[in-house]
This record gives sequence, structure tokens and C-alpha cells, in this order.
Amino acid sequence: MTLRIEYLIAGTGPAAMMHCLHLQESGAEVLMAGTGMYGQLKPVMYDEIGQPVNLLPIFPVIESDLWNKMDPHENSVNQLTLKKINHREFSLPTNGSQKNYCRYLIENERNFDIPYILSYKQFGDLIFDHQLTELQKKLTRNYNSGQPKFFKAGFVNGLSPYYRYLKSHEPYPVIQEEIKSIDISNKIAFTKGGAIRYEHLIFTEPLPKLYEYTRIRKTFNLIHSGAKFLIFYCGKNLPENHLWYCCDIRSNIYRTFVPQKNLIVVQLSKNSWNSNPEKVGTELQKLLSLEDALEHLDTKTFHGCYPLDVTDYDSKNELFLDLKRHNFHLSGRFSEWRYIDLHEVDFNVTSKNNAHLKQIVTFD
Ligand SMILES: Cc1cc2nc3c(=O)[nH]c(=O)nc-3n(C[C@H](O)[C@H](O)[C@H](O)COP(=O)(O)OP(=O)(O)OC[C@H]3O[C@@H](n4cnc5c(N)ncnc54)[C@H](O)[C@@H]3O)c2cc1C
Repeated sequence: MTLRIEYLIAGTGPAAMMHCLHLQESGAEVLMAGTGMYGQLKPVMYDEIGQPVNLLPIFPVIESDLWNKMDPHENSVNQLTLKKINHREFSLPTNGSQKNYCRYLIENERNFDIPYILSYKQFGDLIFDHQLTELQKKLTRNYNSGQPKFFKAGFVNGLSPYYRYLKSHEPYPVIQEEIKSIDISNKIAFTKGGAIRYEHLIFTEPLPKLYEYTRIRKTFNLIHSGAKFLIFYCGKNLPENHLWYCCDIRSNIYRTFVPQKNLIVVQLSKNSWNSNPEKVGTELQKLLSLEDALEHLDTKTFHGCYPLDVTDYDSKNELFLDLKRHNFHLSGRFSEWRYIDLHEVDFNVTSKNNAHLKQIVTFD
């Protein structure tokens, strides 16, 4: 069976869904392909809580249009509470004059100690081994001009605001099949069930999948980092919507947030991924001065959270340009391999052509 569509979107995460809405708004026929929905934003269900919960607080550092499209009455609920706790004396190597990310911090940040500690806790030794160009760019874009221009983060009744926004637009046109291969020159994607002929393809899956689906050969390496979370249940109500960063270099806890009043999520320091959850629970209890012991509910590991660098930017740019010539657009944090937040994704990537779109899904 062959399907024809003007816009095919590879992936069903938030970037894919937002492209889908954007294209539909401009009258385009669009289809997403992939299994599961919401990507990393997918909510999880815990019996103790009784309703699905998003574990990720998604926050725009600068104000986004999308945020303003959300429920205005609840904007005030989502102020970011940035608590810097236990900032103690520390000593980290700087690896001499070698060009790496920690050098960048020392040379560019007047008060580099907190970013230095937090980066080390988030990415571990990578900050000594690489320049982490994408992280540098993110800092320059969002922070170096002063403090972050906008602090909004957290959850609305256990839902990430992005998730809430996307959920309110269900259902999406989706074929629940993974793409197996793509013929870029002839503009055909193949799934287990058949072929999809497209005019434009928006690829939101992680960049390594591109090599798997196509005949493109790898010309640069990707440097990235993951995140590990421990999820705890607390018998007493916790202050919702808070987000704390722990600045103690010796602590196992990098940051922690409360999506719902009985649930607390800990992102572990990179060097503490093997910590015993009960120990971390006790540490957390002390850190937040909680009376009740915390019960460890769950552990979640995401291996690809942060795209941090590539070994050859010229090759990357060349590849992206070449793909564009075939109406093949890469879009999203993991596809573009840029450390961008959702509100920074270019959702106008295909809109120039939209005015005259009239696409019909047909079967051969
Ligand atoms: C702790 C944490 C905090 C974050 N904070 C923010 C934040 O503040 N702001 C923000 O904008 N973002 C944040 N993110 C990132 C957030 O997850 C992404 O912004 C969002 O999920 C990106 O959407 P996406 O559609 O581009 O990618 P994804 O959600 O990853 O979806 C991509 C698509 O690719 C598919 N896919 C993934 N891996 C594979 C594979 N191996 N094979 C086939 N298909 C695959 C997925 O199923 C999905 O369909 C955070 C992430 C973490 C872990």
C-alpha cells in the first residue's frame, strides 16, 4: 500500500505535534509517523497518584508566544522557584589552558562558580573534555545578556503546560508505525505496513536515526549527555510547582521538582547515577527539611537529553543544506542537534509554501 501526503512528519513528540498544528492551521494535509505520542513529554501513571503525571518541567527561558496561548488564568501558578541551597566551598580542576567548557565559563562568566558547579553536576567530566558548543550557545542566547529574561516553569495540576496545550488539540493525524527507511531523492518513506510518498518531510526523531533510515554516511560525531531521575512519594503535601537546584558539589542531587503535591522528582548528579535510592531519599528529606520519610516509587533514565556538541560543524551544515534541497527539514532539539528548548524551534520552517497548499491523502 502506498500513501501520498504533502507533509510527512517523522516522530510524534511535542515538536512533531506543534508542526502538525501549525501546518493544519495553514490548510496543509499532514501526517505524523511513529509509535507512542508526546515523546519525552509522555506522562506516566502511578497508582499512588491516580492520574497521569508529566515528570518534566518544561520552561521557556525567554517568553514564548506559545506560552501566551495557554490558559492566561494559570500563568501565575508557574513561576519558577529557583532555590540555591548549600553552596559550599568547592575545588574543581580546570585542565590548564585547554579549550573546554569550564574554560569558557571562567573566561565569560563574572560569577562562574554556580554555573560551574551546576554544569559539573549536570554533565560530569564532559565539561573538561569538550567545548560543549551547543551549551555555550544556549548560555549566550539566554543568560549572558543578564539574568534569564523570563522565569516560568513547572506544571499545571501535574501537567507540563506544553503537554496541556498539545493535549487540547487531540486527535492528531498519525500513522502509528515506525519509519524503517527513507529514500530521500525519490521522497518515499517506508514503514512495516507500506510506503508513504511525501513532498516535504519534517524529521523530528533523533539525528542518529537518520543514518539508520537512509544511505547517508556519518561524517561527524555527536556529543551528548543523558539524565537519570528518581521519583519519590511523600505522604504529606509538598509545595507544588517548585524547582530547586542543589549547589553542593558533594550532593547526589542536581535538581528536584514537585509535579504534584505528593510526588517529588530528583534529577541525579551525573556522577551519582549509581546512588542508592533510599540514601538519596534521606538526603532529599534533609535538604528540603521534610518530616516524613520518602518512598522510592520509580527510576527513569533518558540517555539522550542534551545535545552538546558535534565534531565537525562544517559537515553538519553541509548535510543540513543538502537535505533541505530535497525538502527534507530537520526540526527539534535532537534532530537539529541543537540544545534548544521547544519555544526556540523554528515552526515556520515550511510555512512559506503553505498559502497554496491543497493536499489530499490518496491511496494508490
Ligand atoms: C530533565 C529534562 C528537562 C527538560 N527541560 C526542558 C525545558 O525546560 N524546555 C524544553 O523545551 N525542553 C526541555 N526538555 C526536553 C524536552 O524533552 C524536549 O524539549 C521535547 O521533548 C522535545 O520534543 P521533540 O519532539 O523535539 O523530541 P522528543 O520528545 O524526544 O520526540 C522525538 C520523537 O522521536 C522519537 N524517538 C526518540 N528516540 C527514538 C528512537 N531511538 N527511535 C525512534 N524514534 C525515536 C520519539 O518517540 C518522538 O516521536 C527537557 C528534557 C529533560 C529530560
